[in-house]
Amino acid sequence: ELKDNTIIIVLGASGDLAKKKTYPALFNLFRQGFLPRDVKIVGYARTKMDEAEYHKRTTAYIKNPDEDADVASKIEEFKKLTTYVAGDYEDGAAFNKLTEHMEEIESHYQHKECNRLFYLALPPSVFTTVCKNLKEHCYSSKGGINRVIIEKPFGKDLESCRELLSSVKEYWTEDETFRIDHYLGKEMVKNLLVFRFANVSIGSLWDKNSISNVQITFKEPFGTEGRGGYFDEFGIIRDILQNHLLQVLSILTMERPVSFSAEDIRDEKVKVLRAIPPIEQSDTLLGQYVAANGKPGYLDDESVPRNSTCPTFAATTLWIHNPRWEGVPFILKAGKALNEAKVEVRIQFKDVTQGIFKDISRNELVIRLQPSEAIYLKLNAKTPGLYTRAVPTEMDLTYKRRFTDAKIPEAYEALILDALKGDHSNFVRHDELDVAWKIFTPILHWIEGQNGARPRPVNYPYGTRGPKELDAFVEKYGFRRNPGDYVWPITNVS
Ligand code: NAP
Ligand code: NAP
Repeated sequence: ELKDNTIIIVLGASGDLAKKKTYPALFNLFRQGFLPRDVKIVGYARTKMDEAEYHKRTTAYIKNPDEDADVASKIEEFKKLTTYVAGDYEDGAAFNKLTEHMEEIESHYQHKECNRLFYLALPPSVFTTVCKNLKEHCYSSKGGINRVIIEKPFGKDLESCRELLSSVKEYWTEDETFRIDHYLGKEMVKNLLVFRFANVSIGSLWDKNSISNVQITFKEPFGTEGRGGYFDEFGIIRDILQNHLLQVLSILTMERPVSFSAEDIRDEKVKVLRAIPPIEQSDTLLGQYVAANGKPGYLDDESVPRNSTCPTFAATTLWIHNPRWEGVPFILKAGKALNEAKVEVRIQFKDVTQGIFKDISRNELVIRLQPSEAIYLKLNAKTPGLYTRAVPTEMDLTYKRRFTDAKIPEAYEALILDALKGDHSNFVRHDELDVAWKIFTPILHWIEGQNGARPRPVNYPYGTRGPKELDAFVEKYGFRRNPGDYVWPITNVS
């Protein structure tokens, strides 16, 4: 339920996330009438800027390609809701100034109850101090709600994550805290629950008896492009696998929750993650891109330390020790500077019993998260006509074609709206993080040379599918690339 009299405070309002994601998402919610009545938005950061400069920055990424007059006038209305306060992150007095500003806004509200949603679009180095200052100086005690949204990274390993969580917990309860993994706001990830549990036909295929192997893949066609300094500290595993792909895995494999309530869903996610042991070195393939086709290699990025062994590509195989999944390999793979942009889940089914068929394609169910959401099941059918040969074909659900009028919201729109409503279903609970780090910490420490020499990732040329070792790697886990006679006949919808 939305609360009237709400102020949304964006801390780090001068930054990249705020301008690219937070403000455009707030605008889209506003435009569609999803924000609370009388909502006000307050930006806070150290940068000194006047209102005009602040408005210019916060609306720079709001799209209006057709210069639609309605959108333009909505942007003007949106600007009127948003104000800015400059201040430090360490300084209690500065936060008092922010509170004075909020109280001035609240004095115009009709009711006494005032609600404050704090969104931390800030680097992790200041998370704890800001959480403390917000609680001590900006927490509304007038009977309304106070909530805080925080962004990854949630630590760098198990220990640092625990430290961060417990220091935030000193000031904010679990119920007040909303930890974003923006993959949980993606339409197709949210659809997984419906797709799996509202279809008997799918539910009955969903185990080791039918499924041979699963790949969850993230591919990006560009490299670090000058921002490698930041990336080098984290690497692709922390950036993509440990959080986003593992979230997808947990929803894909969890048991049916008792209800759609946040705690019931998150209980099941934690349960399945606890059945996954830490990743073995032998189940890991690491890569780093090198210059090719006129594009620079990772080590050519001047912000990257020379000789860095940071992986820009990783494939890791996870095993779930429970009755449903014992023996099924789950391959999580992600890379930068690859041949295409895509995020998908590819579930490959087992072979048909031999006998009447030979060399027949395996069934595959592909759930494409981006670009262009789609679910397709690759099936064999008889070649039409006077033949008895089987041909690989598909049953297809492409969102753009099936839901022609639907506007798929940005992940951040869905998540901010959930946080305003107090729904935790699509946010990460503290124990999910703990178990996620348990799975990944040993392999990360090995990569960082904590127990010996750092492993050197294998090279792959910019713009390719990844290291040449990848095909043998996925084959080792039973993935079989179907013979090349599958043709997707539609070219205008990718
Ligand atoms: P950012 O632009 O580097 O930082 C946001 C603001 O924080 C800056 O404008 C700056 O504001 C202040 N700041 C920067 N460095 C600081 C420092 N060392 N000490 C104190 N204040 C500092 O960061 P961002 O890209 O917006 O990301 C914010 C958070 O979201 C991070 O936790 C990031 O990991 C996460 N995130 C970002 C993205 C993205 O697309 N950018 C995506 C997912 C998650 P002032 O100098 O004006 O105070
Ligand atoms: P695909 O792009 O052919 O990839 C299938 C699998 O084979 C992936 O695991 C891929 O690995 C791997 N692979 C690709 N090229 C390879 C190579 N040269 N050597 C070894 N392995 C290789 O996907 P598909 O599902 O069979 O579909 C074929 C085409 O039809 C795709 O372009 C797809 O978008 C299109 N299609 C679209 C829809 C729709 O829009 N609704 C429906 C059906 C099919 P990596 O992922 O690691 O590269």
